[in-house]
Amino acid sequence: MIARTIVDVPASQTDRVFDYAVPEEFEHLIKPGIRVYVPFGPRKIQGFVLELTDTTDVPAGKLREISRLVDLTPPLTNELMMLADWLKDQTLSYHISALQVMLPAAMRASYRKNVVIAEGAELANYSEAILRVFQQDDGISDWDKWQQKATKEERKEVAAGLRRGDFLVIPVVKSNETEKRQTAVYPSINAKLENLTAKQKLVLDYIHNLGDHPEDHAVARILEATGVTRSIIDALVKKGALEKKTEVIQRDPYEGREFHDQKPAALMQEQTEALQPVDEAVRSGRAETFLLRGVTGSGKTEIYLQAIESVLQKGEEAIVLVPEISLTPQMVTRFKGRFGSRVAVLHSALSKGEKYDEWQRIRNKEVDVAVGARSAVFAPFENLGIIIIDEEHEASYKQEDAPRYHAREVAIQRGKHYSCPVVLGSATPSLESFARAKKGVYRLLTMEKRVNDVKMPDVSVIDMREELRSGNRSMFSETMIAAIQTRIEKNEQAVLFLNRRGYSTFIMCRDCGYVAECPHCDISLTYHSSQRKLQCHYCGYSHTIPTLCPECESESIRFFGTGTQKAEEALREVFPDIRVIRMDVDTTSRKGSHEKLLEAFGNKEADVLLGTQMIAKGLDFPDITLVGILAADSMLHLPDFRASERTFQLLTQVSGRAGRHKRPGEVLVQTYTPEHFSIQHVKEHDFLSFFDDEMRVRKAGGYPPYFFLTLVHVSAEDLEYTVQVTDRIARFLREHLSGQTLVYGPVASQIPRIKDRYRYQCMIKYKVEPKLTETLQTMMKTFEGELNRSDLAIVIDTNPNMML
Ligand code: ADP
Ligand code: ZN
Ligand code: ZN
Repeated sequence: MIARTIVDVPASQTDRVFDYAVPEEFEHLIKPGIRVYVPFGPRKIQGFVLELTDTTDVPAGKLREISRLVDLTPPLTNELMMLADWLKDQTLSYHISALQVMLPAAMRASYRKNVVIAEGAELANYSEAILRVFQQDDGISDWDKWQQKATKEERKEVAAGLRRGDFLVIPVVKSNETEKRQTAVYPSINAKLENLTAKQKLVLDYIHNLGDHPEDHAVARILEATGVTRSIIDALVKKGALEKKTEVIQRDPYEGREFHDQKPAALMQEQTEALQPVDEAVRSGRAETFLLRGVTGSGKTEIYLQAIESVLQKGEEAIVLVPEISLTPQMVTRFKGRFGSRVAVLHSALSKGEKYDEWQRIRNKEVDVAVGARSAVFAPFENLGIIIIDEEHEASYKQEDAPRYHAREVAIQRGKHYSCPVVLGSATPSLESFARAKKGVYRLLTMEKRVNDVKMPDVSVIDMREELRSGNRSMFSETMIAAIQTRIEKNEQAVLFLNRRGYSTFIMCRDCGYVAECPHCDISLTYHSSQRKLQCHYCGYSHTIPTLCPECESESIRFFGTGTQKAEEALREVFPDIRVIRMDVDTTSRKGSHEKLLEAFGNKEADVLLGTQMIAKGLDFPDITLVGILAADSMLHLPDFRASERTFQLLTQVSGRAGRHKRPGEVLVQTYTPEHFSIQHVKEHDFLSFFDDEMRVRKAGGYPPYFFLTLVHVSAEDLEYTVQVTDRIARFLREHLSGQTLVYGPVASQIPRIKDRYRYQCMIKYKVEPKLTETLQTMMKTFEGELNRSDLAIVIDTNPNMML
């Protein structure tokens, strides 16, 4: 028996099937989809068995054997194995990466890179110091770790050695824990209960009265509850009164939390009309993609819930994708409240182990609804009845690492397999999706009214240039101050929103213009007042705050820009007694802190919630009557063709937090470019006009959805080499792609250097290019040797999100 296997070495020369013989002892156990350990070069690595056959082209003497099975049941279903095949072609990624991305992180083997001296290496080229590094142990045992402490010269030497083939990288599997185990004790059935001490009796009584919840039987828990020492339990085990077991337990991140039964609401007219065609597609089992455009508060979530209801009645399963930041307790509560323990929740705040357990609950068919961020699109259901993507325009649905997939495309592909509908929902759909809906590729469903005819909030635009002219240099306009004042008096609440991107604080010398920059990246350092430090947001480099300008020794070195911390301080200057809850990366980095802060705000422990992106979504509190946007144009001027779209989406999203219930809402938008259409159309809640205006801009600039883009991104430590490779790529593409396709580049990326690596790119712009995938694959093949032998990295990003 031969196992055709994909090995876990993400590199182009290993991106093919390898044949291994199956030892007799495994013949009855092995199945396609199972993971195995196989010998590969000098090491053992993991692989996925694609299929089993009885023939091979490998000569008998050369055929190696599978060493060991990792799984007994395949972790990925047949459908997911097929999906991986599709995914690798779509995203031009390695087959192994497409398979791995579908597994929870805890199940992915992780590797360290061991660097060793190759046979026949020319060692005269290298310094004593480097050779000494290689003489210790087994070469450089963990290359990534080593690079962090090595000097630039040392790193360069090793990179050069790899390029010349004097050094080799060998991947070594790191072990990883997936299951949580505990030691537990249970009463033995035929125990002799004689001669017990008082304490032993107490413990035994306690254990006899426990239910069957495994966690209650954990030794640690029992010790804690009864206050006895471990020796008492050991004595009882010795006497045969108790039995000791090591068992696998499932972690439930929502354990102990109560979810109240929430009954379906009687739908509004627009909701009924929107649900009907979706419901019909569910019932008849039809693969159809719907785009549900419904204004904020129009009751989209209620439609999702009721559509899922029909799916469950059919005995089928549902996936709901929500952006990471809206996986707030409020969203989870609505799903758990409706479907109870049949819901698995997958998001990044869970530990690796917790995510693994939630994933297992899906795989073992213990649940039939999965709610999660992007990667939940791969939830291993086998009988899918619907896939829902809420806030479908969100950038986070595109993965920015290989495989660079978009969850929307994966969902549609899975929908085809299971003949089930896909619902994309948003108040501000992406231009791509809305254009497809207009063409009839997706079916458009529209809800223009809020539930119970609640009015859309009044939006006013405040021209901050006027404020400046009238002498107000603070970050709050007069109108904003007055509006906050009113809310405090009326005991209502306000949400103040500050976009982080483009508005972080940096340090500048007022005399010479010096700006503190990261020595490893071409980007300025960000000021964090809580740690009194400067930090690089790209590589984590940090430095103490200078008191003198390093260039001119002037003392006039100051912070610039307006971060959330500064905003809080400014607010306190005006309102000394104001109660503020600030939500940003600094205040929410600890697990559970996000939830706690929102709960406190919901309990009216604060007048103002001040925050970044993370407060834009999912917030639904009745007393929020004011939403203030402090700097609406901070995003507008980013050098990205989606800047206007992102601005419109974000402003609409944030505005939607106001006046969702009985009290009417007011939105104040502070801006330096009040005339810009993406700000003007927010005022009227007018997505359709925004769409028309923005489509004209895209058409004129030759951007999506009129054209497709593919980005080829090149990086290496050596600048000249980086440019030269990018140039060769550009020329290759121009030569091989059709005449109508445009290839731009080489140009430096927007951040030309990160972590000491130079970054260049080529952009491919096309309408129809049937040869694209093939050409890019051939291009990668021609660089195979160089990629192996150097620190060069080439990344292909189809339909890129960001132009960074
Ligand atoms: P969206 O997702 O479109 O922003 P939601 O689904 O969150 O809107 O609905 C807004 C509010 O209206 C929520 O508090 C929700 O519970 C409530 N709601 C939704 N549909 C109905 C309905 N048919 N009747 C009464 N309340 C509803
Ligand atoms: Zn840096
Ligand atoms: Zn200076």
